[in-house]
Amino acid sequence: METKGQFVHRRWNPLRQSWVLVSPHRTERPWQGEVGQKAAPSGVAYDPQCYLCPGNQRAGGAVNPAYEGIYSFVNDYAALLPESPVDVEAPVSPLLVAEPARGLCKVLCYHPDHSLTLACMTREEIRQVVDGWTRETLDIGGLEWIEYVQIFENRGAMMGASNPHPHGQIWSTGFVPDEPAAETQAQRDHLARTGRCLLCEYMAAEQAAQERIIFENEHFMALVPWWAVWPFEVLLVSRRHLGALPQLNEEERDRLADTLKRLTTRFDNLFETSFPYTMGFHQSPTDKDEHPEWHFHAHFYPPLLRSATVRKFMVGFEMLGMPQRDITPEEAARRLRVASEGHFRPRA
Ligand SMILES: [Zn+2]
Ligand SMILES: [Zn+2]
Ligand SMILES: [Zn+2]
Repeated sequence: METKGQFVHRRWNPLRQSWVLVSPHRTERPWQGEVGQKAAPSGVAYDPQCYLCPGNQRAGGAVNPAYEGIYSFVNDYAALLPESPVDVEAPVSPLLVAEPARGLCKVLCYHPDHSLTLACMTREEIRQVVDGWTRETLDIGGLEWIEYVQIFENRGAMMGASNPHPHGQIWSTGFVPDEPAAETQAQRDHLARTGRCLLCEYMAAEQAAQERIIFENEHFMALVPWWAVWPFEVLLVSRRHLGALPQLNEEERDRLADTLKRLTTRFDNLFETSFPYTMGFHQSPTDKDEHPEWHFHAHFYPPLLRSATVRKFMVGFEMLGMPQRDITPEEAARRLRVASEGHFRPRA
């Protein structure tokens, strides 16, 4: 295989039994070129330099419409492309395995106002974002060749977000990526072994323990999971057993918006800062299989440890051995439980 070729592929790591996605064409991406250090200070509703603000031109040349509410588009410098690559040559060694990778990368702007974050948006505004995620899951997941729809958000420069404009990404792939693939296997094994859903059972155990739950509403539970790696890692689980966003009813979508508002506000209040994180939904694959084992949930992975500037690093033993944490998940849950749901910096 022409692994030096410029097409997207994934390479097999036989030591870790995992894949790595390689997107060579992406080196042409103008890294922070359009936004970079010129990112407007927070509080500015419109930034003429921002490639996500309504009416502005993007690096690829396209011009954003004067959108109100949400707006999605195909990423101009996507890590994955829908086109099938041309022929693949046989590997020279069974230890040098690669295969072509297809996908579709989209960006979803949450709001036209450059200064906002989920925490500062109203429940009604967040509900529009939930509806957008749901529609994209349906549309993209409905494509015959897409096997997984990964919705995520990188929030804050500390997590590598190049632009503060409220937005997330949707990377969909012609294969199930390693994280959801591992969770598919675990949930499938648990169902086969016990006849019960792994996360339904886990929620019941947390309900009984009452130590790691941060808050709940009628349809969702937010908790610091027993196995949390990041200091204030949070797992958000739907109470009803369902596999994906499109299966949420109207009321559940409202309550998901409520949950996101309350959780991100508590995060911000913890260190009185716009709390950085990577968050994303895990939902059932859109491959051709049935997935009775899948239970819809979201992960929040925030890097902050002690203050707005002191973060946790995953280095040393954690890279070579295993993850390690100092503050217990129970203490992290307690601190998030006592954090206010009224934002420390109310929206003007
Ligand atoms: Zn903007
Ligand atoms: Zn379940
Ligand atoms: Zn998950």
